[in-house]
Amino acid sequence: MKKVIVAIDGPAAAGKSTVAKAVAKKLGYTYIDTGAMYRAFTSYVLDKGVDPENEAECVKLIPEVSIELKPDGKVICSGKDVTRVIREPLVSGNVSYIASYKDIRLALVELQRKMAEKVSVVMDGRDIGTYVLPNADVKIFQIASVEERAKRRYIENQEKGIPCTYEDIVADVEKRDRIDSSRAFAPLKPAEDSIKLDTSNLTIEESVQAVLDIIKEKVGE
Ligand code: C5P
Repeated sequence: MKKVIVAIDGPAAAGKSTVAKAVAKKLGYTYIDTGAMYRAFTSYVLDKGVDPENEAECVKLIPEVSIELKPDGKVICSGKDVTRVIREPLVSGNVSYIASYKDIRLALVELQRKMAEKVSVVMDGRDIGTYVLPNADVKIFQIASVEERAKRRYIENQEKGIPCTYEDIVADVEKRDRIDSSRAFAPLKPAEDSIKLDTSNLTIEESVQAVLDIIKEKVGE
């Protein structure tokens, strides 16, 4: 079977991980949630009592941090199960600072490239098509309106029992998009050869089907 790389990028809460996970399952590919890796690093920084806005102090922690994405979706950071905590507002509110530090990105990108070396993957993030895997077979830039994204994330948090208000989510999504798009190194932006997919008016099933159709057209899977 041909090794296939699918990159799905886009702004915060655009439904990338839901779609990427379902597409990977359907095709038997490995799903790699790179946002979970930046979130795990952030939870480690917060645990250590380090200020996430202090780049030099955060970068010093790189040798101590190991991150594992388990096949069952669990995220393990330096031996600790952080699957739940990385979705909490404190991590969401600080992750974009951590993700703007070049040395931390380089360490995590190395890991991401290794994970995609031997198997077919669907990898989602902000810079997969532009920086992490520029030779990906399929590049999708998934978007949705801010209102739709915030609504979806609000419902998802309710289901997971993560306390938040709709207004908090709008503020979080807008803040992360602003920081992620304006950082100097590997910012959030569509790859020139990416296919734009607006899911504002699509259900999850329709979005998954749209991605499967794009993959089929590009690589015949
Ligand atoms: O995908 P998710 O929203 O969980 O990502 C959390 C944060 O991690 C993003 O807002 C962004 O700051 C950072 N990120 C990134 N590059 C990636 C994936 C995530 O900078 N490839």
